[in-house]
Amino acid sequence: MLLNPLEGDPTDADSHIGGPMLWPIDEPWPHCDGAAHDPASGGEPFVGAVQLYRRDFPEVPFPEGTDLLQVFLCTLHHDLPHAYGPDVRLVWRDSTTVFELIEEEPEPHAQVEAYVPTVNVLEPIRYTEHADKVSGGTKIGGWTAWWQSGPVEFTCPDCGAEQRQTLSLATHEPSGDDVEWEFGREGNLNIFTCVRDVRHPIGVHVD
Ligand SMILES: [Zn+2]
Ligand SMILES: [Zn+2]
Repeated sequence: MLLNPLEGDPTDADSHIGGPMLWPIDEPWPHCDGAAHDPASGGEPFVGAVQLYRRDFPEVPFPEGTDLLQVFLCTLHHDLPHAYGPDVRLVWRDSTTVFELIEEEPEPHAQVEAYVPTVNVLEPIRYTEHADKVSGGTKIGGWTAWWQSGPVEFTCPDCGAEQRQTLSLATHEPSGDDVEWEFGREGNLNIFTCVRDVRHPIGVHVD
């Protein structure tokens, strides 16, 4: 399913790209330890990138007791095993347990402009995707659009099960309304999760 982002003004109660995150005041905001930064520049707070509510996206494999997927990016270059790009952190949350929100989201001291999204609402387009006609837009599920590299098989480092593409963030949208971030050479940032438990460590791939 294509997320089909469109410029807008979402709140923390909406599904969105680049808008405010539903984050409780008593929980530490995710920080990158900076270990994979190039050049090494120390730790920085992650940036809220995507928020998907189960009521809008029941296709997402939400673990029992959660209804909100939050995607964070460390918006600096990272030298990852299958990616040169931002680092990714997923948070699976039960939104009904969040009462008091963080007052202000921490801002990194330095960011790579190309990894910072504009603010968008989502007007999803549901369709059946075939392996030989893969859409390059921002989407959940579906097939991986391999451009510059060949297919890579991802396995979970925790349990050895297969990892499947759960979310793909795109430089270019079919609608032409780009989020104005760029991954690789106008490519996609693909996020793979374990088929046994999406909370196991994820795979990140930039193509
Ligand atoms: Zn980082
Ligand atoms: Zn696993």
